[in-house]
Amino acid sequence: MAISEFQLIEQYFKTPFADGAAGVVLGIGDDAAVLSVADHEQVVVSTDTVNEGVHFPLSATAEQIASRAFCTSLSDLAAMGATPRWFTIALSLPQVDEAWLLGFSQQLQRLSQQYGCHLVGGDTTRGSLSISVTVMGVVERGKALTRCGAKAGDAIYITGQLGMGAAGLAATQNQLRGAAVFQQKALQHYWQPKVQIQHGLAIAPFASACIDISDGLLADMAHICRASCVGALIERYKLPVATELKQNSTWLQWVLAGGDEYQLCFCVPKAVQADMLNALQQAKLNVTYIGEIVEGDEINFIDGAGDILPVSHHVESRGYRHF
Ligand code: ADP
Ligand code: MG
Repeated sequence: MAISEFQLIEQYFKTPFADGAAGVVLGIGDDAAVLSVADHEQVVVSTDTVNEGVHFPLSATAEQIASRAFCTSLSDLAAMGATPRWFTIALSLPQVDEAWLLGFSQQLQRLSQQYGCHLVGGDTTRGSLSISVTVMGVVERGKALTRCGAKAGDAIYITGQLGMGAAGLAATQNQLRGAAVFQQKALQHYWQPKVQIQHGLAIAPFASACIDISDGLLADMAHICRASCVGALIERYKLPVATELKQNSTWLQWVLAGGDEYQLCFCVPKAVQADMLNALQQAKLNVTYIGEIVEGDEINFIDGAGDILPVSHHVESRGYRHF
């Protein structure tokens, strides 16, 4: 006989996650959770949903869905320079499949441990497969990184390599060219992107603006520009790209407009650039300089020869939109 909704919550979400996390006054089991933070902190909250057929294919395993839902949501905390603390999950399931629930729950437990982010509640309903994850983190009061502080003259940096999200999506469709190890790396990135929490925390004292690249470098850079009322000049030849990626004819489109990157793109005033690079080096974290914030409202490229080219010459840069 299928287990009831309450047994399901108890068995797969309450008991395995009962880990006595800091700040949890009241966890799963009441009408709501009660959480506390220190006086000098502020809470940072974000929700993301993944739907079957839109954000992952029907063939995805429970483990893959759990990591994609959790990591893509947590990435917003990295972009805000926040320390992850708690999360809730709203689960819509077509039926009760205990093998699926076990795989899903165990993968969530691994990620919860890895990132120090603890499950404190949720909702369980019947419907098409859909998972909403709400993540909560903390920052020092007034120190959250936002999209709106970039100023002309700031340097623009990026974590990791670009194009891996689109490459990963292509790999799920058996359409990625490159050696087997590269394909594995792309798949791993797609299903379980490394959330750049450490980078977010390390740059937070220095950065003037930050965003996580979920819709593509240009689309997300445009969000920073719009929010900060500035433009950007990107040194196209400096964009960090895996050599293997270039075996694919659409690589540049992937790098500029591919979503699912979950790297951080951030700006830093020149006056504190050296301090930031020092702090990153101490923490053994890498970043790549990709350009500069300028006055105006345009994003342009500068190539190796110093020629300035409008972005529209390169790519359709609108980013993914649901509607
Ligand atoms: P209510 O009807 O008051 O909303 P629920 O029956 O939906 O309560 O949930 C009971 C408790 O179980 C709540 O504390 C809720 O946060 C938790 N919960 C429900 N579903 C999940 C889930 N999938 N994961 C974690 N906690 C859950
Ligand atoms: Mg409910």
